[in-house]
Amino acid sequence: MKIFKFGGASVKDASAVQNVAQILDRYRNDRVVVVISAMGKTTNALEKVLALFYEKNDWSLALREIREFHDRIVDDLFGEKNPQQLRERLAGIFEEVVRYLSKAGNFVPDEIYDKVISVGELVSTTIVESYLDEKEYSTCWLDARRLVRTDSRFRNARVDWEITRRHVRMEVERRPDTRLFITQGFIGSDHRGRTVTLGREGSDYTAAIMANCLDAESVTIWKDVPGILNGDPKLVRNTLLYKELPYREAAEMTYYGASVIHPKTIRPLGEKNIPLYVRSFINYEEPGTVIHDCQVENLAPAVIFKFRQVLLTFSMPNFTFINEKHLTLIFHALDTFDIRLNVMQNSAVSISICADYRPGKLKELLQHLGNDFQVKYNLDVNLVTIKNFTEEVLAGVIADLNPEDELLLEQRSRNNVHLIVQPAVSV
Ligand code: ASP
Ligand code: MG
Repeated sequence: MKIFKFGGASVKDASAVQNVAQILDRYRNDRVVVVISAMGKTTNALEKVLALFYEKNDWSLALREIREFHDRIVDDLFGEKNPQQLRERLAGIFEEVVRYLSKAGNFVPDEIYDKVISVGELVSTTIVESYLDEKEYSTCWLDARRLVRTDSRFRNARVDWEITRRHVRMEVERRPDTRLFITQGFIGSDHRGRTVTLGREGSDYTAAIMANCLDAESVTIWKDVPGILNGDPKLVRNTLLYKELPYREAAEMTYYGASVIHPKTIRPLGEKNIPLYVRSFINYEEPGTVIHDCQVENLAPAVIFKFRQVLLTFSMPNFTFINEKHLTLIFHALDTFDIRLNVMQNSAVSISICADYRPGKLKELLQHLGNDFQVKYNLDVNLVTIKNFTEEVLAGVIADLNPEDELLLEQRSRNNVHLIVQPAVSV
């Protein structure tokens, strides 16, 4: 069994969907579970509908645009043949959104969010499945909400592995003749059957969940980049492609901000030693990158940016040394207010922390700790990590900073350098 994941860009219009079919054509002799995201930027567009709804503005037009975007894809894919059944299924899914919004008062906003946002994946998989059937692939559409069982933390649900494994295996094993399964990334349901989502960009994670549950032979994430590069080509010059990476390296890269795969993807695969291929859906002959159990000598340095960070410095009044009790207070507060710490550094009288910037949470944290510490902070800073650095690459990164950017902190460990930069112009 192989697991494929196709993200939004790989199904963004009719020709992209046709390209997916071409890729699948090369695997007609395999059994494949295909995990698909919402088409193009549909998830953002659905978030916009919700924003309008909560601002008490007219949201129906925004929803109609999403519907028309999908209708056009259906028109382009099916041409003269009018797929009446498909149209009815899509209409049904969109009507659910309207129905839920009309009784939104009965639910907490995060529950409504998951219900509405999941429509992107439901619609995209429905269209792709119909198209593949029409091309004579025999497919089975699986509802990920009946596969992936989670807790009830809407928008960021945690997987119940035992139940999920049972569901996934059962659904696949009872169809021994089916070669191609189509399911949604990013969504699942809780013990009451309520729709949940796994966190933005969570479809990669779904692919890893499927692989882990089915002991798959491999996972392939098909992307609009050739594989994993040692930097984002929009930000870094002369990037190169990794042919292979150890699980640990890949996991750390995602932790420090590499957005090419979702951070939660690696663990369920590493645990079962399942290789993860990251390949181009455009040049699909190319091997891309494989992440697996390996050792790579002299791994090329990676330059990774993480934006929207805050640099906080806590210090003690009157030259008091900062001690473990003070640190405990700070860490406890970070945990309580759910602020993710990325890098830290301390001195005799202060500790600096670089964390994800979440305005509401930060305010609560500052109120909570304001009496015990003097706090200074810089908002909207960038964390630049150079993994497996060389002096040459480090010098290059510093030279490439804008002259008006301010380097607030530089930290070196054995393998990595972190720079915290206040950009003159924020990205
Ligand atoms: N459609 C969801 C998102 O855009 C999940 C995904 O694409 O991975 O966040
Ligand atoms: Mg996506």
